Amino acid sequence: MKAAPFEHICPTSLAEAVALAGEAGARVFAGGQSLGPMLNLRLAQPRLLVQVNRLPELAGVAADADAVTIGACVTHSAIADGAIPDIGHGLLSRVAETIAYRPVRNRGTIGGSLCHADPAADWVTVLMALDASVRLQGPDGARSLRMKDFIQGAFRTALRPGEILRAIRVPRLPASARWGYEKACRKPGDFAHAMAAVFLSPGRCRAVIGALGGKPVILEDDAMSPIGATRALEDIGELDQARLRMQLVVLDRALAKARA
Ligand SMILES: Cc1cc2nc3c(=O)[nH]c(=O)nc-3n(C[C@H](O)[C@H](O)[C@H](O)COP(=O)(O)OP(=O)(O)OC[C@H]3O[C@@H](n4cnc5c(N)ncnc54)[C@H](O)[C@@H]3O)c2cc1C
Repeated sequence: MKAAPFEHICPTSLAEAVALAGEAGARVFAGGQSLGPMLNLRLAQPRLLVQVNRLPELAGVAADADAVTIGACVTHSAIADGAIPDIGHGLLSRVAETIAYRPVRNRGTIGGSLCHADPAADWVTVLMALDASVRLQGPDGARSLRMKDFIQGAFRTALRPGEILRAIRVPRLPASARWGYEKACRKPGDFAHAMAAVFLSPGRCRAVIGALGGKPVILEDDAMSPIGATRALEDIGELDQARLRMQLVVLDRALAKARA
């Protein structure tokens, strides 16, 4: 099947992109790795595609003492190849290199992944675990949201009409922090069907379980025990025993890596 006809515009500034994205029937287009298939299957039939991945405002990377700010259109490949200062003891490049296959990573962007909000997307789980925040630019100005508030469910975000994700601010991990990241996929490059990111630092432990039917589940401190994790996963009421067991095994492996 081919995409329905649409108009395609490459704005030259973020302000122009925001104005176009606010038009009726407009859709933002970054790497096209999720939106492209949706267009071809006619699951999405926008009147206008607003291509944002050539905008300099969405391309940069900046680091300060507390965090790194990653432009929304930085690709998974750039992150895998070390374009981002290592604020997470190797975590960001490790996550990026496990996403899909090289051709997808070459075009797919970190911002596109968050805006698409597939529950099995690696960045959704990992950036929630890192307590990252997103910077949005819309017709009413700029605002920031923590990842846990930005992701609202499966394929649902807090983006308002006409808003564009500009950048993601990722706090630096303390020098003593340890992480573990694990996922279960049918074969390398496939979307995961179980996923966990764990951070351990003195006085603070956090795990995020992803690849669920909706928003990832955040576990802190005592809730990270096998009993606490089982309760939290049972509470969302969507996992059969096999999926529950798989999530617990993946969490256990991520914990073991963080403790190693
Ligand atoms: C074969 C295959 C395997 C994959 N495997 C994995 C995997 O293992 N793990 C994983 O995490 N992902 C995987 N993906 C998805 C991939 O990571 C995509 O890159 C990502 O989901 C979307 O990024 P994109 O830049 O291509 O966004 P697009 O496809 O261009 O856009 C996706 C959505 O986000 C919106 N959007 C994009 N950018 C912005 C912005 N800056 N502001 C506002 N809205 C925006 C678009 O309107 C659209 O709704 C896979 C994809 C494919 C095709």
